[in-house]
Amino acid sequence: MLRRRTYFFLALLVGFLSVVVFNLYHYQGFSSNSEPTTRHMSDSKSIIVIGGGLAGLSAAHTAFGRGYSVVLLDKQPSLGGNSVKASSGINGAGTPAQTAHGIVDSSEAFANDTNASAGPLARPALIQTLTAQSAAALAWLSEPPFNVDLSLVSRLGGHSIPRTHRGKGGAPGWAMTSALIKALDPGKADGRIQVINGARVVKLVERDGAVSGVEYEQQGERKSLAGTAVILATGGYAADFSTTGLLAQYRPDLLETPTASGGHATGDGHRLAASLNSPAALWDMDQVQVHPTGFIDPAQPEAHTKFLAAEALRGSGGLLIDSKGERFFDEMGRRDAVTAAMQKVAEAGRGPVRLVLGPKGAEALKAHCDFYVGKGLMKRHTDTASLADEMGLHLEDLSKTFHAHNSYKRGEQTDPFGKVHFHDEEFDINAPLLVAQITPVVHYVRIVLVMMIGLTES
Ligand SMILES: Cc1cc2nc3c(=O)[nH]c(=O)nc-3n(C[C@H](O)[C@H](O)[C@H](O)COP(=O)(O)OP(=O)(O)OC[C@H]3O[C@@H](n4cnc5c(N)ncnc54)[C@H](O)[C@@H]3O)c2cc1C
Repeated sequence: MLRRRTYFFLALLVGFLSVVVFNLYHYQGFSSNSEPTTRHMSDSKSIIVIGGGLAGLSAAHTAFGRGYSVVLLDKQPSLGGNSVKASSGINGAGTPAQTAHGIVDSSEAFANDTNASAGPLARPALIQTLTAQSAAALAWLSEPPFNVDLSLVSRLGGHSIPRTHRGKGGAPGWAMTSALIKALDPGKADGRIQVINGARVVKLVERDGAVSGVEYEQQGERKSLAGTAVILATGGYAADFSTTGLLAQYRPDLLETPTASGGHATGDGHRLAASLNSPAALWDMDQVQVHPTGFIDPAQPEAHTKFLAAEALRGSGGLLIDSKGERFFDEMGRRDAVTAAMQKVAEAGRGPVRLVLGPKGAEALKAHCDFYVGKGLMKRHTDTASLADEMGLHLEDLSKTFHAHNSYKRGEQTDPFGKVHFHDEEFDINAPLLVAQITPVVHYVRIVLVMMIGLTES
């Protein structure tokens, strides 16, 4: 089932590419609305975007660039959504960054990997769009006016070729969203851009069978806004844990699983679209991805919301070991498979699982690791003996694991778990280690575009 399968970081890109889909539509002029406190745009080419994550920001910029006026509403006090948290990178095939690193890739190879991961639940048209346009999407982000640094490329789970892009600074999600937010400057837009924060959209207004605007709540006041077109970019529902929420409805088995999502991800857009007089079709609602590596914070181990241990940690050579100090799976496997293996370890009483990173990996992800260590989520050990001591093991237990992994990396032996992609680092028992305890977390919901909240001529 796709629900536990790696979806190759599709979400960022799908959200982003949805903009393209939306913008294929021809937007009609603004309509008026006689509701109290309704705001009208004087412009006849205006679009309301609900949600200020990467999808909404991309939509807003694209619409603005094509001459439309844009009102961007977000229920949070600041923009960014879960997009700001994206910590490993964005996938693209056939990019200049790959070429600069000598990586040969193609959209066909990306599509093949994605199809293999999705299995019987693959949606070929969506995958074709995602993979064929991935290089252009990354170029859009990395070229002016956004200039996002996406020059580093790593291979993450499920990919046959390194194609996950990030920059040299901190989290790529922050780099992308902050660049798009900065460039969305109402002061320089002749009144054609408005950003309204703290505005929770609660209703899509319909007129003559078409969506003609939205109603939203802001500081306890109900307001409405009339527009030509409405773009839903409200993210997923990976934090909708209420007893009447979408997780309870579609994935009750996950209600006790912690989440790495921001609290805003409560499926508002899904509900809004489904509440229309001609309700939107919701697909694959049970396809919720569980990410194997959420940090267990020693200061609050039971916390339901956890920081995500970026997949890039495993992509940079991180090993997963059980309480006996033994590896139990291919760290570069798909997320669903790694999660299932971790669950078996827990059931066998061999938890908690630890993620162990060597100095080279820690250096490659320095900004990430400094953040994790600063938050108390990862601990520095001077050497393997220090870790063995903490785990109540003999040094030989751990060194055996590390030496065996080194021999798999060198090709002297075959990894019993089928690992074939190795980071360029061998474990040295005298070298320092960064270590964290981890547990699976509800990560994100497959964002299937619900349907166009398109407008007919009015
Ligand atoms: C911790 C973490 C790490 C991740 N790392 C990666 C990664 O490395 N690479 C990758 O590709 N993907 C990653 N993902 C997934 C990716 O971040 C998301 O899939 C993506 O950000 C979704 O973008 P979005 O714009 O659709 O939604 P979001 O970024 O979540 O934005 C939705 C916005 O809509 C607003 N909103 C919601 N409801 C309403 C309403 N009723 N009215 C007004 N506003 C509303 C929210 O406040 C929010 O700002 C990660 C996710 C998490 C949680």
